Amino acid sequence: MQVPRPPTALDPLLADPSSAAVLCDLDGTLAPIVARPELARVPDAGRVALARIADRYALAAVVSGRRATVAREIVGLEKLTYVGNHGFELLLPNAPEPRSAPELGGHGEDARGFAAGLAADELDAVGLRLEDKGPIVALHWRGAADEAGAERLAERIGGEASDRGLVLHRGRMVLELRPPGEVDKGTAIESLLTGSAATTAMYAGDDRTDLDAFAALDRLAGSGRLGTAVRIGVTSAEGPGEIAERADVTVEGPEALIPILAALAG
Ligand SMILES: [Mg+2]
Repeated sequence: MQVPRPPTALDPLLADPSSAAVLCDLDGTLAPIVARPELARVPDAGRVALARIADRYALAAVVSGRRATVAREIVGLEKLTYVGNHGFELLLPNAPEPRSAPELGGHGEDARGFAAGLAADELDAVGLRLEDKGPIVALHWRGAADEAGAERLAERIGGEASDRGLVLHRGRMVLELRPPGEVDKGTAIESLLTGSAATTAMYAGDDRTDLDAFAALDRLAGSGRLGTAVRIGVTSAEGPGEIAERADVTVEGPEALIPILAALAG
């Protein structure tokens, strides 16, 4: 395959992969968005590139809102590091089970306990889907029989959850109920990078939660911990405008990220 020259911003990573970290969001970044999230897949060319990146780079990680084990199944590579649940879980290369972020404390079951009290018939009436993500419960209305009604119900449930001490996070046609605590994709990659040999890093993402990771790269570059930090924004019609505004490099959709990964893979 002819690999086009990658953006020059990535030159410091290409110059010394053994001191570089490659971090990517999953859905909408590595895997195209699909109507049913369980059908998401990373294209073969992306998987091949990531496998080689894992062998050559100081750190290769996928950072997702999904459970870490689910993210690993979708990518199909055991040798990457997976941050799951927006930083609440960490699954190390070849590890059988994820470990929890210490910030979670004793609140790991709060969201699940709240969701257990919701009326299933009310959710079914509009097609609002619940996803149990361990410490996080997600409310999905993409593809619901009544998308507008499902979104309204999600917002009402979110209000009740908030009153019970849970923290709301909004994504693309999804509202997540999370336990309290200062955990996000940014805090997760900050601790990953700090504990790694990487002195340069890139992060690719498409959605609002990825802005936390962009901010973490800013902090690490600002403190001097990273010599180079490259933010790659994967743009889409549904994604937030801030992704392009705060990125150093933008690409249109997951398909356009693959040539960059292939170039990094060498
Ligand atoms: Mg995404």
